[in-house]
Amino acid sequence: MRTAIVSAMHEELSAVLALMPDEARQVAAGREFWVGHLHGREVVAVLSRIGKVAAATTAAVLIERFGVGEIVFTGVAGGLGSGVAVGDVVVADSFLQHDLDASPIFPKYEVPLYGTSRFASDPALTRRLAAAVQRALPDQHLHRGLVVSGDRFVSTDAECRALRSALPDALAVEMEGAAVAQVCHDFGVPFAAVRTISDRADDEAHVDFARFVREVASRHSAAIVQALLA
Ligand code: SAH
Repeated sequence: MRTAIVSAMHEELSAVLALMPDEARQVAAGREFWVGHLHGREVVAVLSRIGKVAAATTAAVLIERFGVGEIVFTGVAGGLGSGVAVGDVVVADSFLQHDLDASPIFPKYEVPLYGTSRFASDPALTRRLAAAVQRALPDQHLHRGLVVSGDRFVSTDAECRALRSALPDALAVEMEGAAVAQVCHDFGVPFAAVRTISDRADDEAHVDFARFVREVASRHSAAIVQALLA
């Protein structure tokens, strides 16, 4: 079975590609898909690009064109939950689109015609991913729970506060996970996601972010993926 490894940003994916001895490039939908092996397992690694639509396109192509049997997203996110600090790791149990609002026709956050606002990650794949995080990064604080996605880089105290009060159980905010979760739900393909906290989605987020991705996030992604596939 082929496993897809997806990241939103170049820095993260390059660390994963460095672990693949035989990756071959295939272009589809304007993206480069790297098909090969990692620890002897069949892998397709790809950069989704940033945002929900880009992530959804990537997931659909991975499933339809590359026939992947499971998708794992690794990346960074802003911490929302109290106690979710920069450097911590969040493994998602469920996803919600925090910028989706078709009210009053549908309840706020509900995905129209799906009858739900939350999509669960695959329990078995998520257990494997969480176990991989614990093996790869034993000193890092690991959280599990709700991750929210939207087409906004949340980087003001005001927006962060608003999100925290509207969605008090949200651990982290990013820009892709809920979109991939919905596509994987449509196709019946297992999905799991891990995010290293790069910032606290507040007024300092932009400063923290750039440094963190350069210095920490790429190493985390590679270590986690290696432990997952070993
Ligand atoms: N300024 C950045 C833009 C990256 S957008 C740049 O120079 O490229 C942020 C990316 O990291 C997205 O892929 C998103 O999933 C994640 N992310 C990290 N912190 C976030 C936050 N506070 N809000 C939203 N997404 C965040």
